[in-house]
Amino acid sequence: MKRELMERILKELHEGNKLESILKACYQEEIPLSFDCFQEKVIEKLGIDQESYETGKPSQKLRAYTIALEEEFLRQRSKEVEKGEMIDEDLQKLEKYCQEHEVFAMAAVQIGIPKRIIYLKNTTLENVEEEGYDEHRVLINPVILKREGLTKYWEACASCLDYTGLVARPYRIVVEYQTISGEKQKETFEGFESTVLSHEYDHLNGILHPDVALELKWMDKEERKAFREIHGYEILWKEGDYEKLLEQVKA
Ligand SMILES: [Zn+2]
Repeated sequence: MKRELMERILKELHEGNKLESILKACYQEEIPLSFDCFQEKVIEKLGIDQESYETGKPSQKLRAYTIALEEEFLRQRSKEVEKGEMIDEDLQKLEKYCQEHEVFAMAAVQIGIPKRIIYLKNTTLENVEEEGYDEHRVLINPVILKREGLTKYWEACASCLDYTGLVARPYRIVVEYQTISGEKQKETFEGFESTVLSHEYDHLNGILHPDVALELKWMDKEERKAFREIHGYEILWKEGDYEKLLEQVKA
């Protein structure tokens, strides 16, 4: 589907116009398919399932919330997990979603659980194609204590449709978090794992990658894959204060 058309649909959705009338107008203008088929495609592309399309409300199914219908939800600040709070069910859902989808990691808010929990499935660039690869790393109430160096990567997100953004992330972060058993840990994440974790950490504060991207493009999965082969992960500095380096990059 043409990206101009998708962008127009999204813009109109954000302005509160009804999906059905937008679809009909677009269909009459540009798409030589049956209306049902077109509708199905758009719904799928927008990350909306049939139930939410019909009711206009998010469905209860395990799925990624997206900016098409649930931007406000994604924009909230996730809550701290309290001491002794039962989160087994939340963790199971998060793990299941990550296992069933091609993602690097997920923040709980993305599947409708606004708690400060991050699941890391793959923090490498080497294991992307490997089926079943899963690091099973869970970070509860993470806090980034230090950001150093600067890298760039064209990021995508299960919640942000086909938006692909060039984002500058720290090369190294020092993070304090709790494990599933409640122990406090301090860990240094370096290279691509810092990019993955920094992206997820932003979700906990309602920040999405298009908000912080230096450049933004609209590409589907295949286009993105080809694009990343030429424009891959790039390390600009391994040392130095991230905030200062970021200013330099933006200037
Ligand atoms: Zn994301």
